[in-house]
Amino acid sequence: MSEDSQILDAISKWLERDVRPKVRALEKKDEYPEAMVEQMKAFGLFGATIPQEYGGLGLPAATYAKIVARISEVWMSLTGIFNSHLIMAAAVARYGTEEQKKRFLPRFASGEVRGGLALTEPDCGTDLQAIRTRAVKQGDHYVINGTKTWISNGIKGSCFALLVKTDPAAQPRHKGMTMFLAEKGPGFRVSKKLEKLGYKGIDSAELSFEDYRVPAANLIGGEEGRGFHHAVGGLELGRINVAARGVGVANAALADAVRYAQVRKTFGKPICEHQAIQLKLGEMATRCEAARLLVESAARAYDAGERCDMEAGMAKYFASEAALENSVEAVRIHGGYGYSTEFDVERYYRDAPLMCIGEGTNEMQRIIIAKQLIARNPA
Ligand SMILES: Cc1cc2nc3c(=O)[nH]c(=O)nc-3n(C[C@H](O)[C@H](O)[C@H](O)COP(=O)(O)OP(=O)(O)OC[C@H]3O[C@@H](n4cnc5c(N)ncnc54)[C@H](O)[C@@H]3O)c2cc1C
Repeated sequence: MSEDSQILDAISKWLERDVRPKVRALEKKDEYPEAMVEQMKAFGLFGATIPQEYGGLGLPAATYAKIVARISEVWMSLTGIFNSHLIMAAAVARYGTEEQKKRFLPRFASGEVRGGLALTEPDCGTDLQAIRTRAVKQGDHYVINGTKTWISNGIKGSCFALLVKTDPAAQPRHKGMTMFLAEKGPGFRVSKKLEKLGYKGIDSAELSFEDYRVPAANLIGGEEGRGFHHAVGGLELGRINVAARGVGVANAALADAVRYAQVRKTFGKPICEHQAIQLKLGEMATRCEAARLLVESAARAYDAGERCDMEAGMAKYFASEAALENSVEAVRIHGGYGYSTEFDVERYYRDAPLMCIGEGTNEMQRIIIAKQLIARNPA
């Protein structure tokens, strides 16, 4: 058995034994899955893509994407607990100083310190260069003031890759942006827990910084003005992550629909024998396969060190729309039961839209794809 299959096999067994039976209750109470987080630590998932020399598993994106898709087939929320954490870690691994890598990565890999990415603000998400959180240098520290919102793991996490302005007057605007590793402490507080349509269990929060002092040694890479580049650099892996979640949710919706269509009978036969249902199943299965292949191809390009913003954008766009379309069709195939909280399809239907929004909205993905297409094919 290959290393890939061994990890996937162990995770699949864990999902069926320890996760699937508990999802509905945790989701209903919007309860943070503490025990599952401990089990994910034991699997090494908080270090999945962190290089082995810093205590991680050093998995390629291709294997990682398969793990994310598999977990999302059972409960997509779980992947959010380590996804944005690993994007924070990737920023340190790619752009951090050697001292920062040694100080942070082993603690990230073990899950002892967990966190995520703090980019979005109350009045800007897509237009990241418009952020207003400000850092001012004072001796060997920076003093930070501002507000971040929608931050995944904001309550349970303790360290965040925080994007700020160090020079608000800089032109172009991105030259005044810097990223810090911000550990919770005086002046850094959770100001609100955000309530959501879906994506339950994982915490999403507003974070406030009031004269929060962060050591200059926590400035990623040690040089001001590179923060936008660091944030955007993590988005390729982030988009592959979200695309893989889309594959998982699309697959789950298909699997539930295929099962239900064989047991539900109308007019004397299982509904899977009606052509109207077969058309839906045929489209759903094709979307799953196409989404999976796009994710694999983007992950392969990422692992080969190639520029893959177009490939990751295509995978993210297509797989998240596949999740959304498949979840709607699964609800329809379940008829009235599709609208019931006793079946999982209603959860897929609430979870899927997030993948169309996070890591760059699907409107932006299509624009990125088109721009790359033109840049790579000059007339
Ligand atoms: C559950 C959840 C978890 C999240 N987790 C995190 C996190 O961990 N860290 C973090 O930093 N952020 C996080 N986010 C925020 C997320 O990344 C943003 O919501 C997303 O980037 C969109 O930004 P916005 O909400 O400000 O929408 P806006 O930027 O205001 O966009 C609104 C609409 O306008 C469209 N639009 C904007 N600009 C253009 C344009 N130039 N051309 C065409 N259309 C455009 C958008 O596509 C969208 O349809 C999370 C969000 C959610 C819902």
